Amino acid sequence: MEELTVSIIIPAFNEGNNINRIHKELKKEFSSLRYDFEIIFVDDGSEDDTLARVRTLALEFPEVKYLSFSRNFGKEPALIAGLQHAKGGSVIIMDADLQHPPSLIPELLEGFEEGFQQVVARRNRVKESKVRSSLSSLYYKLVNKLAQVDLVDGEGDFRLLGRQAVDAILALSEGNRFSKGLFSWIGFDKKVVKFDNVQRDEGNSTWSLVDLFEYGIEGVLSFNQRPLRLVFYAGFFIMGLSLVYILIMFGLILSRGVEVPGYFTTISSILFLGGVQLISLGVIGEYVGRIYMETKRRPHYLVKESNTERETYEEME
Ligand code: UDP
Ligand code: MG
Repeated sequence: MEELTVSIIIPAFNEGNNINRIHKELKKEFSSLRYDFEIIFVDDGSEDDTLARVRTLALEFPEVKYLSFSRNFGKEPALIAGLQHAKGGSVIIMDADLQHPPSLIPELLEGFEEGFQQVVARRNRVKESKVRSSLSSLYYKLVNKLAQVDLVDGEGDFRLLGRQAVDAILALSEGNRFSKGLFSWIGFDKKVVKFDNVQRDEGNSTWSLVDLFEYGIEGVLSFNQRPLRLVFYAGFFIMGLSLVYILIMFGLILSRGVEVPGYFTTISSILFLGGVQLISLGVIGEYVGRIYMETKRRPHYLVKESNTERETYEEME
């Protein structure tokens, strides 16, 4: 590990047009800093010329390291891969699309020098579509109610981690990663630096609304068993209600005799309870599915090509 080196980790999926730009900006930024830097590009199975560009860049500039996955594994595995190969005393995680302004790096490093293990860049939501930002804020409200970790709106993956924090993250071996939650879970002293939201101008965001929705579910489920508890209470509540209903009906039958119709009530209770059962099964299924994935202990990613070696946690799965 090199104390005065900062490892910049950049996951890249079809970011061919951004590779040279971000390298240039980072180089400019670091020219006035007393830190050395290495860039670790993690090519997440891109289908464009991302790998070729990164390879060319690495031939010319020794600070450029890269890993290329055998297929698209997703941003989370790309982040772990980057962290596992980082040699610096601190690590900065940023996107390839320049939505995370490199000009913020001096401020992040200042925080690190003040002794913070996590320096987080928090963006506001200017220039973002109304739908997306209101969905996001709704989501954060929900997650913070349900989960036992604190997530803050606007705090993404753009952050600096000190070596202690990096090693803590690497020690968490779960396969279903939700790094926003993990960053919050490990704790350590945290400083927040603010910046204005930037739109990407090359390529497209690869997240559809459905992706975001699934990512949201991941966030709720990977951090607690509360949904299971909720289902349990719901079941209890409904059972109570039906008991009251049955007693009343029974009383009525005793006093007035059997009333034939009853079709409506039968059907509605079957449908309602059927729904509740399906939801419960779904929730349980989600957890069981996660257990199933974890028991396979598959590696988080497979590397097809690279010019760097894994530094820490040699034997980590
Ligand atoms: N990314 C990745 N693998 C994926 C999807 C995205 O490595 O499967 C990278 C992408 O290249 C970018 C970062 O993750 O550097 C953020 O992606 P994007 O800009 O699409 O997300 P957004 O900014 O819209 O959240
Ligand atoms: Mg982006």
